[in-house]
Amino acid sequence: MPLRTYSKTKLVKFKKSIEAKLNDVAHEMDDIRDTLDTNTRGNSSLSQDAVYSVHMADAGTDSYEREKGFHFMNRESDYHKSLTKALERIEDGSFGVCNICEGLIPEERMLEVPNATKCVQCKEKEKLNLA
Ligand SMILES: [Zn+2]
Repeated sequence: MPLRTYSKTKLVKFKKSIEAKLNDVAHEMDDIRDTLDTNTRGNSSLSQDAVYSVHMADAGTDSYEREKGFHFMNRESDYHKSLTKALERIEDGSFGVCNICEGLIPEERMLEVPNATKCVQCKEKEKLNLA
């Protein structure tokens, strides 16, 4: 266990902020899912003969829209996963603690990047070593 962690009060505050973000992401994922559903349903509900020519012209746009939707979906679900991880870190007590120097990661950074596991200094050092 790290020597220094955030206080219970602070952790509650972080937890609330993460849960609010999770809520937002869940809504956005629902929206994207709706859009994807509508696109699919829109195509299948029209009769083949009536829309054949229109459909040919639209096919490119449809698949582009769908691809874009799936891309957003992936991004949102990655974000969702990282927020869930952050909540787990709050539970196991490793939240906000740099896993290299065991120092506290500043509050502003944790609010911005809730799943951060390194402080900015350690992250910079790591970058320099890799270069
Ligand atoms: Zn550090």
